Amino acid sequence: MQHRFERLRERIASAALRYGRSLDSLGLIAISKSQPLAAMRALLQLGQRDFGENYLQEALPKLAALRDPQLTWHFTGQLQANKTREIAEHFQWVHTVDRERIAVRLNEQRPQHAPPLNVCIQVSLAAETGKGGIEASQLPELARRIGQLPRLRLRGLMCLPPPAEQFDQQRAAFERLAALLQLLREQSTGPNFQLDALSMGMSEDLEAAVAAGATWLRIGTALFGARPT
Ligand SMILES: *Cc1c(COP(=O)(O)O)cnc(C)c1O
Repeated sequence: MQHRFERLRERIASAALRYGRSLDSLGLIAISKSQPLAAMRALLQLGQRDFGENYLQEALPKLAALRDPQLTWHFTGQLQANKTREIAEHFQWVHTVDRERIAVRLNEQRPQHAPPLNVCIQVSLAAETGKGGIEASQLPELARRIGQLPRLRLRGLMCLPPPAEQFDQQRAAFERLAALLQLLREQSTGPNFQLDALSMGMSEDLEAAVAAGATWLRIGTALFGARPT
């Protein structure tokens, strides 16, 4: 674990250097779906504080077991309406909002004593099926609606681009997302907007994401090794 963690940090640091990014601007989310608690505890020991989970049923016992006020929990899986209450109660970030109905529920269900829930809108960059995300053309309207929901804070955009081997292709997809965020910044004003987050980049394409302005890298395999099946 320690070896993979250090290697990953070196990869991130050298990409940051190459593309003129400050390390402070690059958050690392350990995507721990289907990984055991022991591996998560080992990462915690190494100083990792942000964890991402995709399945609520799997996440809740992990959150309970690792209960630690220093941890930040990110929900990075597809959202179902019947799961929003527990997500709004237990997570600090939701990266995959892609429809108004889900946003409205998260807003209503966010506990009053908690700060606003940080959300990203997931954008579908190509005609992909089964990954979720809205088309870029629908983005302004959904962002405007989320801006009216006081228990949510719209932080930015997220994507899961189609797999691409070539660096230039990877980077082009991420740059599209960055351009969409820039456009949204120009269009959006109000207290519920804090458009500073680009959630993009995974084990295979993190360098391209750093080059294009990512602020949250979501890394599973490069940290934990292959997921148990
Ligand atoms: C699984 C997953 C990741 C991590 O992918 P790796 O290739 O294992 O780094 C990142 N983001 C989301 C949304 C995922 O589902």
